[in-house]
Amino acid sequence: MERKSDISGFHELSPKRRLELVKAFAGLTSEEAKALEKTGALDGKTADMMIENVIGTTELPLGIATNFLINGKDYLIPMVIEEPSVVAAASYAAKLARASGGFTASSTDPVMIGQIQLVNVKGPEKAARDILAKKQDIITYANTVDPCVLVKFGGGLKDIEVRVLATPAGRMVIVHLLVDCRDAMGANAVNTLAETLAPMFEDISGGKARLRIISNLADRRIARAKTVWKKDVLEQASKGQFNGEDIVNGIIEAWAFAFSDPYRAATHNKGVMNGVDAVVMATGNDWRAVEAGAHAYASMRGRYTTLTKYSKDKDGNLIGEIEIPTAIGLVGGVTRTHPVAKVAVKILGVKSANELGEVMASVGLAQNFAALRALATEGIQKGHMRLHARNIAVMAGATGKDIDTVAAKMVEEKKIRVDRAKEILEKLK
Ligand code: NAD
Repeated sequence: MERKSDISGFHELSPKRRLELVKAFAGLTSEEAKALEKTGALDGKTADMMIENVIGTTELPLGIATNFLINGKDYLIPMVIEEPSVVAAASYAAKLARASGGFTASSTDPVMIGQIQLVNVKGPEKAARDILAKKQDIITYANTVDPCVLVKFGGGLKDIEVRVLATPAGRMVIVHLLVDCRDAMGANAVNTLAETLAPMFEDISGGKARLRIISNLADRRIARAKTVWKKDVLEQASKGQFNGEDIVNGIIEAWAFAFSDPYRAATHNKGVMNGVDAVVMATGNDWRAVEAGAHAYASMRGRYTTLTKYSKDKDGNLIGEIEIPTAIGLVGGVTRTHPVAKVAVKILGVKSANELGEVMASVGLAQNFAALRALATEGIQKGHMRLHARNIAVMAGATGKDIDTVAAKMVEEKKIRVDRAKEILEKLK
């Protein structure tokens, strides 16, 4: 099967048929496909090795976002999320972006920061200068010993920075190890390196090393994505309900509001993270690490603001851009032990952590655009309510075709409640 992600009518197919198409797209084996289909794919034994005091497992839906074209390559995007509308919205935004060639994405080297906190340093400025003077020797030593085995994969310690920090507990010297983690998220690797090198910094500074730990503000490991949503395409997609120029202006104004107001920016970025987290979860990555990094990065200008940016090109089309830290990996953590995460990575077809970060950024941008488009036009509830109504219909006991019939009636009446769903269901019977 051709690797095309714009599969028309994908959402109308049965889960079984969808899985068949994904299997063909990604070249999954029958066993891999079964791992996705069967409930309880994470067996008790594997789960018991992941965390402590295991008593069971829990599950969330795994959906596939279609239509993604990133750097000229088609992707089907596995997304793990409990919230309705997210997968549909991402697919829709990606579809509208195809008209201009999809997303262009890039990333920096996968550099994470390890922090070593030195306290009780007499003369912190001199200590900082002394550490920097020995920087090259320390880097050479670290990459020769290579305690976390990163050099072999093309990574390792790349640079050292030193800051003198005034704190409520006095002045401290903070050493930053800039570690290229290649395809690892790097927390274990960086922590190991920080612990290995800490005694050297104690010797040079005469201080005491306390914390030796990775920073989740991964501002040296950034993915960027960009696309253009054409105003004519936006108008057509609204079936003539809204004027293209108006949609573009509405989205830019919505972004400008969030850019200038932390109350709105938090919700704006939550929309970005709907997409980002869903990919991070599907691939078995550490979503707390990515969340912490994203929000800290959004505050880097001294005030919490947006991770995305919108503007107009000379023809009045909408340009969307995102910049986001990407502390994610393809090795380590549970990315290679969780049976579903492994298959999700295969479906994505990503070959490096950087490529995964670029996909993640593109999905975050798509998700954010979809929310802003809805907010700036018909409002967010219309689409949301349709899916919410289906959930309510199921809660009321509807099955099969009745689910859509009951949901449609509730949406039409604008009464999305279990009691009303039960009444409609009763009448159908
Ligand atoms: P890890 O130590 O399990 O795996 C990384 C190792 O994989 C590397 O050290 C390297 O030896 C090896 N490797 C094999 N192929 C590689 C390649 N192509 N590129 C790079 N390395 C390769 O995992 P990790 O990525 O160091 O740590 C991730 C885990 O740490 C996550 O589970 C995360 O939840 C956890 N963690 C996070 C934090 C935090 O975010 N603050 C703190 C502690 C632990």
